[in-house]
Amino acid sequence: MFFLIRAPHNKRSKETKVSESRKSLLERTLMSSMTLAGFVLPMIFILTPLLSFADHPLPPLAFSAGIVCYALGTWLFYRAHADLGTSWSPTLELRENHQLVVRGIYRSIRHPMYTAIFLGVFAQALVLPNWIAGPSALAAFTLMFTLRLRREERMLIEKFGEPYQDYMARTRRLIPGIW
Ligand code: SAH
Repeated sequence: MFFLIRAPHNKRSKETKVSESRKSLLERTLMSSMTLAGFVLPMIFILTPLLSFADHPLPPLAFSAGIVCYALGTWLFYRAHADLGTSWSPTLELRENHQLVVRGIYRSIRHPMYTAIFLGVFAQALVLPNWIAGPSALAAFTLMFTLRLRREERMLIEKFGEPYQDYMARTRRLIPGIW
């Protein structure tokens, strides 16, 4: 679902010129490790017995909670892409005529796409009963988020100045009213 939601935005973003890119080697490595942890490892777990040594029982409650997180995360992922429009990039980039988005879901939180991804990787840990394929994406995204957040906000302050600082002052990062 996440891949499907992103596909048309990927296509459109390639047509919108990048005016500034801060895509470092670290950033590329983190993005590749997300693909490995969020797609390749789950596929290995589902299609082969290679990771079966790390299997564990699946409590029905964990599975149900995971499905709720997936549903919420999928909706939020869709909303964030729709609201960010051509300002979206898979990495740290600014587009030509980059617009600061403070409306829609961005009115309530500054990083709804990252909240959505956290919900998705948390769901993966809950629904895949395996100690490797389950929590791998949660670990990879926590690292990626930690290393990216400040750099992304610094880039947006440099680009938009006071309007972005005002926006930061009236919003929270991931959870409305909390953090
Ligand atoms: N952190 C945001 C966006 C992730 S996509 C979220 O979680 O929803 C990453 C790109 O979005 C960055 O390269 C940055 O240029 C852009 N971006 C982030 N917040 C933005 C905003 N409020 N307005 C415009 N562009 C934004």
